[in-house]
Amino acid sequence: MRLCEKCAGVKNTCCIARDVIITPGDIKRIEEVIISKDFYEFRPVSDLEYLVQEDDPNWNIYTFFENGTRRVLKHKENNRCIFLHDMGCSLPGYVRPLVCRLHPFLYNEQGLTGISSDCPVELLDVNEDIYTSIGINTSLAETWRKELYHELFNEYNENRQSMRKAMVS
Ligand code: SF4
Repeated sequence: MRLCEKCAGVKNTCCIARDVIITPGDIKRIEEVIISKDFYEFRPVSDLEYLVQEDDPNWNIYTFFENGTRRVLKHKENNRCIFLHDMGCSLPGYVRPLVCRLHPFLYNEQGLTGISSDCPVELLDVNEDIYTSIGINTSLAETWRKELYHELFNEYNENRQSMRKAMVS
């Protein structure tokens, strides 16, 4: 059994009560496979801990909009992600938000920095390594990390340029 399945069996999964940031690329990829377009919203942070990004100073700059909100996946009434069903995430792996795909890797704008302490590595079998168990190696995670920052930075840059144009017109 994979680590994520074991984790889901003993505690809340990482798909409950989280603010899952989504990029314009995530939206485009998800919209290609689902009918409803009503899966994200703009919300202020739900937990002030999200504001602490000491090793990644541009993260908040890239993810906050002018009105103090961030674009995140909607929750259902029970605080579960809108895409979380009884059998797990209902989205195909290749369109899941990049932030979801990268979990439990820790990262910043420069690279991967470790594994989240939320991830119950104590549930791994003896001699089983985490990368094999979650089915993601560091090379794939690094590709997604770069894609994530590329998509966030592009949107931030486009917004900044539109604001500049509005100011001079
Ligand atoms: S999109 Fe899928 S993996 Fe991401 S939080 Fe929602 S249910 Fe979990």
